[in-house]
Order: sequence, then C-alpha cells, then structure tokens
Amino acid sequence: MIAILPWLLLLQQGVPQATATVSPPSGDTVGYWQQRADYRAAVVLDEPAQEMHGKATLTYVNNSPDTLHEMRFEQLLNAFRPGSRWSAADEREGRVRFQKLKDPDYAYERFTARPTVNGEPVTVTYPFAPDSTIARFDLPHALAPGDSVLVFLQWDARPSATVYRRQGRKGRHYDFSQWYPKVAVYDRGGWEAQPFIPNGEMYGEFGTFDVMLNLPSDQVVGATGVPIAGDPGWEKAKSWGEVHLARDAYDAMGPGDTTLPAAAPGRKIVRFYARDVHHFGWTVDPDFRYEGELYRGAIPIHALITPAEMPKLGHGTFVKWNEHALEFLEQIYGPYAYPQLTGLIRLDPGATEFPMMAMYGDPSEGTVSHEVGHIYSYGMLANNEWREGWMDEGLTSYQSEWRIRRTPQDFAEGAPRPQAPVATGYRAHAHEMSPYDRGRMQLYDADLIGRAQAPEPPGYRFNEFNIYQMAVYSRGDLLYGMLRDMLGDSTFTAFLHDYYARWRFKHVDELAMRASAERVSGRDLGWFFEQWVHHTGLVDYALADVRTTRDGEGWRTSARLVRRGEYRHAMPVGARTAAGWTIARGDPMRDDQWVEIHTAERPLDVRVDPLHSTEDWDRRNDVKNGVVALDGRSTMFVPDWPFLAQSDRDRQLVAVGPKFWYTGPGGLTSAVRLRSSYAAVGDLAWYVRELGVGVSAQVPKGAPGIEHLHGWLSFANPQPPFFSRPLVGVTAGVWLLDGITKAEIAKAWDLSPFLYSNGPQIGLRVGLDATHPYDTRWLDFSRWQPANVYDANADFSWSARRPGTLRVRARGFAGLTRDVGGGTTHVFERIEGELSQVGTFGAAHAWTHRLRLFGGASHDAPLQRSIGLSSLDVTDTYGNDFVRGRDALFGRPDVHFLVPGGAGLRGYSPLVRVDRAAAVNGELARTVVKEREKSLVPGVEAVVFGDGAWARLPSSSAGHIFADAGVGLLARDQLWDRSITLRFDVPLYVRDPELAAGGAPGDDRVKLRWTFSFADLW
Ligand SMILES: [Zn+2]
Repeated sequence: MIAILPWLLLLQQGVPQATATVSPPSGDTVGYWQQRADYRAAVVLDEPAQEMHGKATLTYVNNSPDTLHEMRFEQLLNAFRPGSRWSAADEREGRVRFQKLKDPDYAYERFTARPTVNGEPVTVTYPFAPDSTIARFDLPHALAPGDSVLVFLQWDARPSATVYRRQGRKGRHYDFSQWYPKVAVYDRGGWEAQPFIPNGEMYGEFGTFDVMLNLPSDQVVGATGVPIAGDPGWEKAKSWGEVHLARDAYDAMGPGDTTLPAAAPGRKIVRFYARDVHHFGWTVDPDFRYEGELYRGAIPIHALITPAEMPKLGHGTFVKWNEHALEFLEQIYGPYAYPQLTGLIRLDPGATEFPMMAMYGDPSEGTVSHEVGHIYSYGMLANNEWREGWMDEGLTSYQSEWRIRRTPQDFAEGAPRPQAPVATGYRAHAHEMSPYDRGRMQLYDADLIGRAQAPEPPGYRFNEFNIYQMAVYSRGDLLYGMLRDMLGDSTFTAFLHDYYARWRFKHVDELAMRASAERVSGRDLGWFFEQWVHHTGLVDYALADVRTTRDGEGWRTSARLVRRGEYRHAMPVGARTAAGWTIARGDPMRDDQWVEIHTAERPLDVRVDPLHSTEDWDRRNDVKNGVVALDGRSTMFVPDWPFLAQSDRDRQLVAVGPKFWYTGPGGLTSAVRLRSSYAAVGDLAWYVRELGVGVSAQVPKGAPGIEHLHGWLSFANPQPPFFSRPLVGVTAGVWLLDGITKAEIAKAWDLSPFLYSNGPQIGLRVGLDATHPYDTRWLDFSRWQPANVYDANADFSWSARRPGTLRVRARGFAGLTRDVGGGTTHVFERIEGELSQVGTFGAAHAWTHRLRLFGGASHDAPLQRSIGLSSLDVTDTYGNDFVRGRDALFGRPDVHFLVPGGAGLRGYSPLVRVDRAAAVNGELARTVVKEREKSLVPGVEAVVFGDGAWARLPSSSAGHIFADAGVGLLARDQLWDRSITLRFDVPLYVRDPELAAGGAPGDDRVKLRWTFSFADLW
C-alpha cells in the first residue's frame, strides 16, 4: 500500500486546489488577519545530560474571526528518531538516517509537566502517533475572537548526535534550530499542523521572542534576536571586526527591565529579544570565532565561525558575503527591517534560514546569498513552506543567481554566459553542451519523461525528495525568471518592492504574490501562476513562417509564432540586422499569431527567443528552415568520433561516420552512418534518428546487382507530425542488411517507483519484431532458418534497491513463422526467466561472486528466435555487424565468439539451441587490476566459473545434462563516454566436447579451449 499511495496521489494532481489559505480573496492586506504568539522562555543548557530544560509562557492572541476549542503545537525534534513520519519517509525512499538511531543518539522534545492554560492543566495528545511532531490539547474554555490565553510550557529537548538534519549536537556544539513547543499556525485554512517530513520546512506565527539562555560561561552563542542582556561571548571570541551588540535596538517598552537573575558559578545568562519573528533558533559552541561589522553603519552583522572554517571564511570574508547579499536584497525589495543579521556554522551540511539568522554547513557566497535572501522571503514574507515552498525556495534560488547575473534574463542583457571547461586530448573533438545547458535540459527531461510534479501540492504529496526539490526550487526558480522576462526588470523589481512593503511581517500565499505582481504590472497574471504553480509542462514556441516586406524607409518582418508546449508565454521574436536584434513579443493568450517586427535594414536572421531569455526547451523550431536544413541554424553536422557522446542545445546534431563489416557473400561492406539527436544528456536524447547506407564489394553469384546495397533507418524518442512532444521510450526501425530485413517497433516504460531515491529499478518493454530473409544466398543456415518470422515480445526486469543485488528478468515471445517460398504458417511461443545475484566480499571487496538461475521453454520456435545453450538468439543480435551475415568476422566457426545469454553455458557453441532448459551459472572472481578513472588501464578480474543445465535439444525427445567449468579474464573499462566489457574464457571442462565452441567429435571433455565476448551474462 505504501508504494501505491503516491501514484494515487499523483492522479489527483489535475484537480485545482484552493491554496489561498492566508490572504483574503482580494489578495490585498485589507481584511487580512494573523494570530499573535509571544514567547517568554527560560532555557538551561545541561551539557552533562546533553539536553536542555525549558520553561516558557506563550501569550496567544486569537485575531481570527473563529472561536478556538483546541490548540496545536509542533515538537519538531521528534522527527529525528525512530517511529516518526520523517523516518517512515526515509525508509520508503531507501535512505537511512534517524530510523535506526538508539538512545542517546536520537533527538527528542518532551513535556516534563502538563501544560497549563490560564493556570488550568490540559491533556496533551499526539494525533499522528507514533509520530510525535504534532501535539494538541483541548482548551479548557473556548477562545473567542479577539481574546487571548496564557499557556505555560515545561519541557526537555535534545538534538540528535551522529546524524544531523538542521539540528544536531557534537561535543559541546549544539544546533537548536528546533527546540521549543512551537504553536502551529492557525490561518484561513484552520490549524496548519503537519507531521514533520523531509519534503517541507517551516511555518510559524509572528510574535515576540524573549529568551533567557542559561549556559556554561565559556559558551559562545548565536541566535535569532538581539542580546539585550548578558554576554554572548563574542568579544572574547573576536578575531576580526567589531562587536556591536545593539542592545538598544528595541525601545524599552518591549524588553522592559533588563536586569538578569544571578547565574550559578561557571554559568552565565544571556537574554535575546526579537520582535516580528515567527521562529527562534540558536547555536552554541565554545570554539566559535566571532567576526562582525556594522552594515550601513546601523545593522550589526554577526558571524560565528568554527576553527575549521576560519581559513575559508575568516578575516571578514563571511561577513562581507552577508553584506553583499543584504545590499542586493535592499535594492530589489527595500530596506532590511530587522536589527541584526547572524550567520553561523553548524554541524549539518547545507544551510537553513531562520528569522534574522542562517545556519550553514560549509557555505559558498552563493549559499549565503540564498539564505540571507530567505530572511526576506520566508523570514519577513512568511509563506507556508509546507504548502507553497516554491514561493520562498524558488524566489531565493532565483534572486541569488540574479545577484551574480547568472540567470537567462541576465545573459540576455549581456552578462557573460558560463563557459564549459575546455576539453583536452581526444575529448576535445566532441561537440558538447555547456554544463549550464545540461542542467537546464535535465530539468526539462524530468517533465518530458513524465516524472515532474508541479510545485503546487503540499510537501507530503510529492513522490520523492528530489522531485519535491526540483519542483519547489528549480521550477520555482524558472517561474520567477519567466515573470521577469515578461514584465521587464523595472516592473519586476517594482513588484518585489510592492510585495515587500505590503506584506512584510505577514503570512503570504500565491494570491498575495500574484495580486502584487498584477497591481504593479497592470496585467492579468492568473494564467501565468496557474500554469507554473499548478501544472507541469514546458514552454515551446515554433517559428512557422516568416515574411519580410518593405515598409516605407525600413522593413517589416511578420513572423508566424505557434505554441507547441503546454505553457504560454509572451514569447520574444527577433529580427537581426547589422545593428543587432530587434525584438517584439507575442500575445501569450494566442496559440497561432503573426508578430510584426520593424527594422531599418533588411533582417539577416529571424528567430524565436533569439537571446534565450526564456525556458523554450526546443530550439530546433525557433528558426524557419528551407527544404534542406543545411544552413547550420537548426542542424549541425559533425564527425562521429568513436567513444565520444556529442550534444547540442541549439540545434539538431548529426554525427556522420563510416562503418565497415565483412561477410562471405558480400565481402567488405562500407557504409556511411548519420546519427542525429537533440539535446542529449547521458543516455537520454530526443528525436534520435539513424540513417545508414552501405555498399558491398561483391554480391553472391546470380544475385541482381541491387544486392550491393544495404540500408537502414531507425528512431528513438521520435516526434511524429502533429505531436507537440517526443514519444518517450518509443523505438522503431527498418534494416535491410546482408540478405535479411528486420523491422521493429517497441515501447519501454520505466516503472521504478523513484527516479532519484533509492528504490527498486523496474522496467517493461513490449515490442513487435519481424524478420524476413530477402535472399537466402546470404544466409548462414546454422543460425537463420529461411522463414519469415513475426512476433510480439515483452521483457520485464526488476532489480532490488541498494545495497540489494537481486535481479529478476522475464521475457516472453509469441509469433508466427512461415517458410520463405511458401509452406505452412505456424505459431510459436517462448518464455524464459532468470534470477541473478552478485555480491562482493573480502578485504577491499576484492572478491565477487555471481549466481544466476535460468529457466526457459519454447514451442516450435524458429532458429532465429530459439533459446541458446550459451547465447542470445540472432534476432536479438541482428544489430551486431560482426555476427549477422554468413561468415561474418566473429560468426566464423574458428572464431569462438559468444553473445552471452540463454542458458549461459559459455563452454558451448552459440549454435547449440534448445527448447527446454533449466540452468544454473556461477562464478567467483577476484580483482587483479583495479579500474582507474580517466585512464586506459582497464579493471581486470580473474574468474573461475562453472555452469550446469538440464536441457533438451529440439532434435531429441529427452532431456540431457550439460555442464562446463573453467577459468577466464573479465576486463572492463570506460573509454571516454562508453563502457567496454571484454571476456576471455577458457572452458577447460565441457561435458559434451563435440558441442563446444570449435569442438569436434572425439574431443576430450577436458581440453584447452577458448571463447570471447563483449558482454557479460550478469
Ligand atoms: Zn532555501
């Protein structure tokens, strides 16, 4: 059930959801309300017990129009322990973090006394038990609108040790990003109290935090808020800059009397005060170094750096990064509205935002830019990160790229584009996309293969963590870029200013943001947010036609712009003259339109999205081509360098190369092959086509001259006419080679539950195959029967999630055969299954064992679709030029070449076919040469193997025992972009020596024999 659930949830995605749970229907602040939560807390850090003891009063004001009968709290530290929903999510996605932690390593947060409400004790329950991240209690008396209650809380809390997530403890370092019973938000949607899981972050009520920390006196502390009393330890730890405590940042009306109670010997009390915050985080470490500065002469920046990070971040570097981030943020939003900014180093890698503060693992300037950005979008503009993570994560991702001018919109304005590192050696021949383009393409690919999810759903409805991240961060990032592209820089910045001015210190939602963008731009943007937030899809517009006419003194270009992708955009169309690009924009509401561009000179080029400022994914259709696409704008021809993968983002790439093979009847055949593809990333490429033409040096006696010629045409992920997207997983082809025609169409599905998380890998492929020998003089009758064969086949595979190594595969065939030149048609079937397992053992995993069980049965199968005792059938290996034709180079009896498969008895000849088989294959391998990356030295294993089978030859009615054993060498290497396997085996023992590869009647069972192959059975 747990695996099915996400799929059901996915199906529900089409239903539009009301996400405006915060802003009133106007999207404006008129009629907006939010609750108020003021905490006064006293905390004692008990280092010997590795926990903190807390007491707090919460003054909770019900500003809602509703009468409340209960209260809900978050105890988020309880996520980081066995039994939590967080741990269940990790378990489902194959991650091991907190689910196996034992005491004292796991985290907790537990009440040490019953909370009281206005002095009356209440009973806490956990509605999502065994998860205890959400607590609730009934209010002793209903809380009317406008009324308030005083809640008293007493609890202990401990971060996790050994594994961290935002929080953690190690030695004397404690990261208390979560630590107190945090009242859940009550907004227009009611109580927003979700169990804490990896797919989601924070949402909190605004209020004042007045926190008294009782610490060992040598601790150095960083926190949300201003240290209004007591010594945070900064002066003593200072290594650069100045300490500005800004104790008077708040007027005396807030903190009141700042006299501290007396601390025990060896301890100190530090009091932090923060207003207009919805969370409070703190960290202590006695080894922290302090660096600080006054930003704009007014706002202290506090940096707390661990000694290990000092070389990288010290001497003001970290402080400056914070300052640069603030400078940019003040430009795009408006003045920073908190009285301090703290950045500190924590245990967990990555980084997390809190109001006035961010915690970092090992930050770069980009990370600092991102997290400080969050103090605006999340801190002051507080969206619900459970429901609408795209609002802050997308925006901070975008603005941190924007600050360093690395967004497509900045490139369009002339910022330098990221360049690919210059390739050297042989690889320098390859034509490759930049890593930047590749990253973009990977994002689009997730959508093209149907795995993307819209940013809309609440975190718990995402199928896996990386897809959540992709939706919330990356798709959110694209959204803001496309909005900026459409609105222009000044309107986009004006929108951010309006949004900040209006909504600062409030909860925000999609409607609030959209209304702000609409107000400032004067445009309806409902469609824009609807598509980007609530639907998956891609942007793709095509240039369908271009007409250029004289227009008075100048020229008028009419460009026909046609929408192909699901998403709409005010698409730029440009005409280029010597003066550069002149750009006009289409109407996003129209799917087929003429866009007019006026230029002084006659345009040299016309193109959709000429500056690549949009997310138009398919650039092949951005130009209008003549009949032959040879002008280089949409197609580029390159040499097909062996072992190199090539790709291009702007054009279809056609790799041209020669191909040669040998057959007895044809002699040497020389062919030219054209392989075209678009935007290939790894194994995934779009619109893949291959066209080949070959000529043989000779023809069989008596054959018409046309048999000199061979040819083929094949497709993968093609886009047929009238389809707006490529057909994912579809392959098709027709080959006329060496006297045999083959036609094939197949569709493959990746049924794995996760694309990125650690889960089982499940694949299904169904296909239709037809083979037809068009001239039997080319045929090797020991491999091909002179018959036309048509079959439907299916191939299912499953492999276990890591570290499991079990693999299951099943194949089935059903078809018809009919002898060439007439004869009866008959039906055949074949079914086979295999189970295999590979494992390593010994020091440095030097030893590997491999096991395989195989079972197969066929009925009336023709030779070309029969089960091999050692090898795949020749329909499967048709594409291999070395074995296809009669007397092909590796098909000759004196060349003992195998394509391992079938029952896998590698001592036997590939010509031995069976119609029943049950086999077991096993081997033990030891690594003798370790494969080294980026070197031509292959990894080599020495192998001892043995195989046994009960199988039946088609000629006999009884089964027979077959067996072999021997030694071998297995070499693997990565040659640039291709991995190569070479196996050389010596089957010293073959039970039926006359059936061995190269065997003859009278041979001994034990004999020196050899075989080789370019693949492995496992
Ligand atoms: Zn973020």
